[in-house]
This record gives sequence, C-alpha cells and structure tokens, in this order.
Amino acid sequence: MREMKMQILKLTTNKYLSLVTIIGIVSFITFNHFSLHSKYEWLIIFALAGAILILNHYPILLPPKGNSLSMDSSIFLASLFLFGLDLTLGVLLINSILFAFTQRKIVWWKHVFNFSIYSIMIVSAYYTFIFTGGKIGFVQLNNSFPYLLSLSIYFAINVLLISVYFIIAAAESLVTVFKGIIKETIATYISSLMLSLVLVILMNKEEIFGLTLFTCIAFLLSLAFKQHFHLFKEISEKANKDFLTGLNNHGYFKEILEKEVTAAKENDEPLSIAILDIDDFKKYNDLYGHIQGDQLLQEFGAFLKSEADKANYIVARYGGEEFAIAMPNTNRKAAYSFMNELRKKANDTYYSGVERLPYGCFSFSCGIAECEKETYSISELLNKADQAMYAGKNQGKNLVQIYNANSQYTVQNSVCLEKETEEAEYQLKIFLSKDVYTYRHSKRVYQYAVNFSRMLQLSDHERKTLILGALVHDIGKIEIPREILTKKGKLDEHEWEMMKKHVTYGKEIVSTNKKLEDLIPLVELHHERYDGKGYPYGLAGKSIPKLARILCIMDSFDAMTTERPYQKTKTFQEAIVELRECSGKQFDPQFIEPFIAMIKELEDLGEELEKELVTVNS
Ligand code: GH3
Ligand code: MG
Ligand code: MG
Repeated sequence: MREMKMQILKLTTNKYLSLVTIIGIVSFITFNHFSLHSKYEWLIIFALAGAILILNHYPILLPPKGNSLSMDSSIFLASLFLFGLDLTLGVLLINSILFAFTQRKIVWWKHVFNFSIYSIMIVSAYYTFIFTGGKIGFVQLNNSFPYLLSLSIYFAINVLLISVYFIIAAAESLVTVFKGIIKETIATYISSLMLSLVLVILMNKEEIFGLTLFTCIAFLLSLAFKQHFHLFKEISEKANKDFLTGLNNHGYFKEILEKEVTAAKENDEPLSIAILDIDDFKKYNDLYGHIQGDQLLQEFGAFLKSEADKANYIVARYGGEEFAIAMPNTNRKAAYSFMNELRKKANDTYYSGVERLPYGCFSFSCGIAECEKETYSISELLNKADQAMYAGKNQGKNLVQIYNANSQYTVQNSVCLEKETEEAEYQLKIFLSKDVYTYRHSKRVYQYAVNFSRMLQLSDHERKTLILGALVHDIGKIEIPREILTKKGKLDEHEWEMMKKHVTYGKEIVSTNKKLEDLIPLVELHHERYDGKGYPYGLAGKSIPKLARILCIMDSFDAMTTERPYQKTKTFQEAIVELRECSGKQFDPQFIEPFIAMIKELEDLGEELEKELVTVNS
C-alpha cells in the first residue's frame, strides 16, 4: 500500500517536473526575439553570467539554519530593468550552460528544470514591469511601482513553483509549505530587489566597472558572513557539547529528548532511554587521580558514542560519571538487550588500571525506562530510568535494570511519607480560614487514597504519590477569590472559567518545590476526563496519567456525596449508580468496580461498628 502510494507520488512528481520544464522552455523560445547582439552586448552578457556564477559560489550565509542570500536574482532583475528581456534571457542561457559545466555531478534534468523555472520567472517579471508602465534603461523614482510589482511576481512564481513541488513530492499541506517558504524567503527577496536597484544605478553609470564593483563587494560580504556563520556554528556547538567528552551535554540532551518523546507519541512509536553510572568511579579517582579519571571518562564516552551511533541512538554526558542514551524506535526489551550487550563489551574492554576496581574490570549500572502514552514529562521518564539504575546499584552493580512500577524502589520513601504528609497538610491549613470545604474535601479524598491505594497493585512510589497528590490536588484554589469558592448557587460562565484555572495555579504552586515534582500530573490533570472532554488539555484515555485517572474518581465521588455550595448531595448508593453511569465517559472503567468495592467495604465496616455500638448500649 505504502509502496504503491510512493509510486504514485513519484509519477505525479515526474509529470509536474516535465510540465514546468516544457512551459519554461516554450516561454524562453516564444518571448525571446533572438535579436543579434553586438559584441559589446555579448561582453555584458558574459560579464553578468560570470558574476552570477561567482556570486552563487559565494552566497551570503545567514545563521541560524544556514539559509543563504544568493545574488543571482538581483543580477537577473537589474539586467531586466536595464537591458530588457532578450539580453537577460541570454544571460540566463549562458549562465545555465556555465553552471551545468561546473556542476557536472548534478543530473542534467535538474539543470534544465532550474533553467525553466528562471525562464518563467524572468519572462513574467519583465511583462509585469512593462505592463505597469516601467521603462527599460532608466532608474527612475516613478518606476518604483513597476519595480515592486515585477519583483512580487518574480517572487510569487518562484514560491508557487517550488511549493507545488513540495506538496506533490512530500505530500505536505499547502498552508504548511507556503508558510514555511514565505517566512524563510521574504526578507531575502526584499534584499534582492534593493540590491538589484543598487546594481542598476551602478551599471547605469559604468556598466562593466559597476558590475565589477558590485561583484567584489558581494564577494567580500560573502567571506565576512561565512566567517560570522562559522563562528556562530562553533559557539552554538560548544554550548551543546560537554567539554570533556565532546558528547551532548545535559541541557541539550533534554532538548533532544523532549523532541524525540513528542515525535514518538505522535507517530505511536516506542522510545526508551537509558541512564548509566560508572561503578566505583570515586575509587578509581582516589587510586589514580582526577586526570586519569578524566581520561577514563573520555575513553568510555568515545566507546559509548561509537556503539550508539551504529544504532542511531543519541548519547549524552548526563552528569559527572553518568551518561544517558535516547533510543528512538526501541521498546524496553530491545533497549535492555542493547544495553546488556554494551555492558558486557565494556567489561571486556581494558581501561588502564581497572584491574584494581572491586570487579577487577570496568563496569557500569544502568536503568531503562520506556516512554508510554501516559508519560507526563521527560523528567518523569528520566526519574524512572534513574530509579531503575539505583536499583541496579543496590543489587550489586554491573547490572542493567528495566524500570518496573511494581518494584519496591523507594522503600526509604515510605518511611518519610508521614513527615511529608504532615508538611503538605500544614500548607492545606490555610484553607481553614478561606474555604473550610476545600480543606475537609482534601482530607477526605486523602483518606480514600490511603484506602484505595492499598487495594490497587501500586508500587510504593505510586502509592506515596497518589496519597500526597490527593491531599494537595486542590491547592491551586488558594488563588481563586473567596466569593467564588464559597458562592451559594451556580457559578456563572466567567466564575466557572476562573474556577477551572485552579489546576494550573496548583501546578505552578507545586512546581516551586522540587520534592513535590511527582505530584504535578495529579494536581494539573485531575479534571481531565476519560472521554477527552475534561480540562485543562482535553486529554483522553491512557494519555492521562494513571494516578490522575484514579484521583479523578475519588475526587468526584467525594464531590457527589458531600454538601457543596453549588450541588445537591447524593447518598453513597446514588453516587455509586452515578459512577457506573459515567464509567468510560468521565472515568477510567478499570478502576470503577474496585473503587466501589472499597466504598462498600468501608460502609460495611461502618454498619458493623454501628451494630456493635447498639449491642453495647443495650
Ligand atoms: P557507585 O558505584 O555507587 O556509582 O560509586 P561511585 O564512586 O561511582 O559514585 P559516587 O557518586 O560516590 O562518586 C562519583 C565520583 O565521580 C565522585 C567524583 O569525584 C567523580 N567525578 C564526577 N565528575 C568527574 C569528572 O569530571 N572527572 C573526574 N575525574 N571525576 C569525576
Ligand atoms: Mg554518580
Ligand atoms: Mg558511580
């Protein structure tokens, strides 16, 4: 299917190229009077064609992307304004022949196609100039309008012919291509017009000398800009590279990873990352000194790069003796085999002095994480790989570990859960004076999270995140005016819009504390709906992080069952009916029945307690 599409595309592209070529050649022949040029005119033709050749070879390079300003259009236009169509088409012909001769590696039809495009552009610009009252051979202020218009046509035809090619060849949309081309070339074309007028003025006084002067100045400018451009490239490369190893540095790696993650999600392709940390490097430094330590980092960096390049992976020095690899188009299993092979190879590579390390060889520990639909940010991905890497260290080093949400990576974290809960609760107390409802609601949702996370198969880390997230999920409401928070009756549209902002405010508040980083998705996304109709982004299904989907259920259940300023209270039974009703719409269905089971369990417990009380009392 794909193959066939490519075939069709190729066929259409070929047809298009042939059509443009025919139109170009026909207009060259039709509009050319083939008048006999004098010797002097031939001299001018060759001088102009030569100048174009030289200046095409020395374009003015413009940072950042290496766009360039070439002078050929300025010279064609100047020639049109001064000498008219016949001579300019002569310049085009001679220039094209000379160019084809110097660039024999380019296939012949491309030369012909190029020649044709210029023919069409030059002929159209000429007639626009004449029909709008332009006079050949003069430089006059009242020629300004014809100058501008003929340039516009020249420009428009160029953009059109090239855009259509891209639309056909790359099957891109008209708007994207147009936008791209116009944005990149408009400044170039305006410069071309001005330069062509400068050349007209120069040549009007002294034809050959004027042209020589113009060519020399453009040549010198090209050299100056070239140096400037190289300097720019050198500096921007330095900013992205690690000084010691020459690999990408931490900041640049994150930039690349951000792009790779977006692309992987868009194209529904797998992507994994690995973080590796050299084992016992401090010992190596202590044994041989920092300079030899640096040497080892360099050698290992080069080894990593050569191995990763083979697989089109991207390597970076992530920190002191830590490295990171981004692996596009690779799932966790493939990433694991790649890294494990690499680990064995590294073990077998001799680096000076490694025999005195605990393993008697060079080794590293490595963590792998695969990007999933619900992955909230690259920090989350990097954190996961980091956790897996530390698990590898804990299990004795020289190991590759895949991140597994159900592993108990963060045993030490559960110990401080109590302390962190206390801290978060302290922050919440501010609501006691502003909006008691939010305070109590947060505490109840927190309690649901404590119970529900026991029931679900969550890792320690997830459990902790869910519980703390439940406690602080509405923290952004601090920014919402008191009148709106406590308004009796329905909120109007404006108030509702304000209210919705609490998720964004909450994200901002939580982001200020690095320790609470993991809670951001819960705070920001607990009002997203499974069917994609929630806010702030309208994410759907698994694009919403799992914990945010769970929190949404607990949050809504509490909202349904408690007194709210703008809603009637439901009984637990009614709320359960509502949960089932909205399963698959507002809520992720997989958590609805477990949640209801937990609620029922709580209710039964309550009833039993009541019964016990009754028996004791009687
Ligand atoms: P582990 O196996 O647990 O990773 O132990 P380790 O010794 O490798 O790790 P630790 O974090 O204790 O020590 C890392 C060492 O890396 C400490 C630091 O001096 C060294 N280091 C970090 N950056 C550089 C560097 O640029 N050059 C040199 N020579 N050493 C560095
Ligand atoms: Mg380290
Ligand atoms: Mg280390």
